[in-house]
Amino acid sequence: MKCVMCDREMDKAAAWVGGLPIGPKCLQKMGNKPTKVKGHVVRNDQPELFDDVAKDEASE
Ligand SMILES: [Zn+2]
Repeated sequence: MKCVMCDREMDKAAAWVGGLPIGPKCLQKMGNKPTKVKGHVVRNDQPELFDDVAKDEASE
């Protein structure tokens, strides 16, 4: 899996933005600021949130 921000290989995403994987370093850099990538930042430690995001994005 590759980080969508820096294109580095990683074991697993630290978070997801708009369904795209973000690595831990880029997540730190981003903080709570908006990113180039549109979408909600979803931390990967609560997979059950993923369903909610999918529904949310479907409604946009
Ligand atoms: Zn990255």
